[in-house]
Amino acid sequence: MAKPAWSERTLPLPIFQVDWAALLRFVLAAIVIVLLPMVFDNNYYITIFQGIAVTYLVVLGLNLLMGYTGIASFGQAGFVAIGAYVSVLLGKNFGQSFWVGLLVAPLVAALAGALLAIPAIRSRGPFLVMITTAFGLVVWQVASTWAPVTGGPMGISAIPRPTIGDFRFDTRAFYYLVAFTALLAHALVSNLIGSRWGRTLIAVRDAPTAAASLGISVVRWKVGAFVLSAYLAGLAGVFTGYRNPFLNSDSFVVGESLNYLLAAVLGGLGTVYGPIVGTIVLSALPQVLAPIHEYQQGIRGVLLVLVMLLLPRGIAGSIGAFRDLGSRLAGRLHVPRATPWSPTRQQTDGQAEQPILDAQRVSRVFGGLRAVDEVDLRIAPRTIHGLIGPNGSGKSTLVNVVTGFYLPSGGTVVLLGRSIERLPAHTIAKLGAVRTFQTPQLFRDLSVIENVMVGFHTRLRRGFLHHLFRTSAAVEEERQAAARALGLLEYFGLADRALAPAGSLPYGLQKLLEIARCLAVGPALLILDEPAGGMNPGEIDRVIDILLRLREAGVTVLVIEHHMDVIESLCQRVSVLDFGKKIAEGTPQEVLNDPKVIEAYLGAPTGGVGEAASR
Ligand code: ADP
Ligand code: MG
Repeated sequence: MAKPAWSERTLPLPIFQVDWAALLRFVLAAIVIVLLPMVFDNNYYITIFQGIAVTYLVVLGLNLLMGYTGIASFGQAGFVAIGAYVSVLLGKNFGQSFWVGLLVAPLVAALAGALLAIPAIRSRGPFLVMITTAFGLVVWQVASTWAPVTGGPMGISAIPRPTIGDFRFDTRAFYYLVAFTALLAHALVSNLIGSRWGRTLIAVRDAPTAAASLGISVVRWKVGAFVLSAYLAGLAGVFTGYRNPFLNSDSFVVGESLNYLLAAVLGGLGTVYGPIVGTIVLSALPQVLAPIHEYQQGIRGVLLVLVMLLLPRGIAGSIGAFRDLGSRLAGRLHVPRATPWSPTRQQTDGQAEQPILDAQRVSRVFGGLRAVDEVDLRIAPRTIHGLIGPNGSGKSTLVNVVTGFYLPSGGTVVLLGRSIERLPAHTIAKLGAVRTFQTPQLFRDLSVIENVMVGFHTRLRRGFLHHLFRTSAAVEEERQAAARALGLLEYFGLADRALAPAGSLPYGLQKLLEIARCLAVGPALLILDEPAGGMNPGEIDRVIDILLRLREAGVTVLVIEHHMDVIESLCQRVSVLDFGKKIAEGTPQEVLNDPKVIEAYLGAPTGGVGEAASR
């Protein structure tokens, strides 16, 4: 039963797909929110609950950025400040209502997030810490010194309560407003995390290079995560601005950014419930510690160290039920029946004559080393082309140039008639050249099936809003992607592992999974860098068997391999590199008997290549 590709099918109307278990949790949370101020009927407590809801919004966004995308931010208080000042000043200086501020200010914060993201995502470790910290400091400094606008240290006073018509939001009503906003934000962010969005962010976090090799623009997704987290912090800022009649820069000191971080880490980074657990624990702390409040900061520090040592996954991350692995998919999508997989037309339809890949005089220089030296490589459609050569002869470097991970120092690369030598890796992947890595680069924290689903990235059509609101169209697309992924896993004999974390697979199966993930992209050219490297003989047979089936189906493959039996049983043509130069090309038999090749492997013209290479 051949189904048309899902992107071509008429999909159901975009109505909301209800996840009953999630709806039940939502209703329970709503009941708790409604009851809290009735049980603790006292403005002191209600103000604390307000604070929890406001902080939660920031931590929710920070978890998206840090937990799911792997980018630490020490400057979230800066976005909160932007949200607060923009909304309050819109009211004070431009006569706009709270509601206009609620609409506009988070967008301004999100814009600031995009601007900060550009330098931030290009840096790592200490530099990332410094850039985000500096951002928080600068915003705070502006808020505390730009007196004509922000009131300087005196701040802004007489900020009115929000109103709707004649209704004025008192402490309790304002609490309800913040808490329900936070609940809604939680539900929408959970939708995202459970969808292609969460999957792609985790992929970008776990193995950015592999994500790019599957057609994902890593920069775009990291910026996206920054923008979302800044938006949520800006939203929290609007509530911070209007919570009290008075606003000054004290609420945005760098220590606040550290508190958000502490809450996120304490709760459990990269978990759905971590942010709420962390926020509540951190907000409860001042109450618990009230009798010894002068030691509070120190105790927080000690707490952070203890959590890092004892519960490296945070509180929620340490409780199995809260963890977020593998079960994500099972819970939200009901893993479907497999859609049998076979190579698609794109893979098998080479233009009759044209080479799939035509690289001419390609070079790559590292310092003084010519790792690849004017190499020509033509790959005919529907062939398996071998690339061999001693260690360090430039095979991986050539693949890195062809797939856009290194810029060539010279030469041209044409893929399916298009020049690609200046294109970024993710674009080349989209155009059809998809590769594996010498050391497998899996998304370790995603399940096996999700790894394959990341491979479908470029073919999935439903965008941000669809996944945010979990429309039936988005859910249906995900379900079909999961079914196809399962089919692909069956083809590779990995279906029984579908829900295991990819990082838990034995090495050989990791390499197989990486090939499966490439095929999900639907490549015109599949490039394998030592697929049998590090495998045991049984696993090598499995790889050979799969590649033979792919060859029969007409998939074009470029394979780097050290096992000469693999090369001999698979390849129609073989190119040989030595010291960056191509020294021979032909059928496996021709090449392996070529004296130049034998010499390259042995350093002397005696013996056989197979013997040398399998050492
Ligand atoms: P192969 O895959 O054939 O074993 P490589 O392409 O990995 O060889 O390496 C070819 C040569 O280029 C080696 O001498 C290696 O040290 C060098 N090389 C590869 N990548 C880099 C890099 N990023 N920076 C500097 N030298 C590199
Ligand atoms: Mg290599």
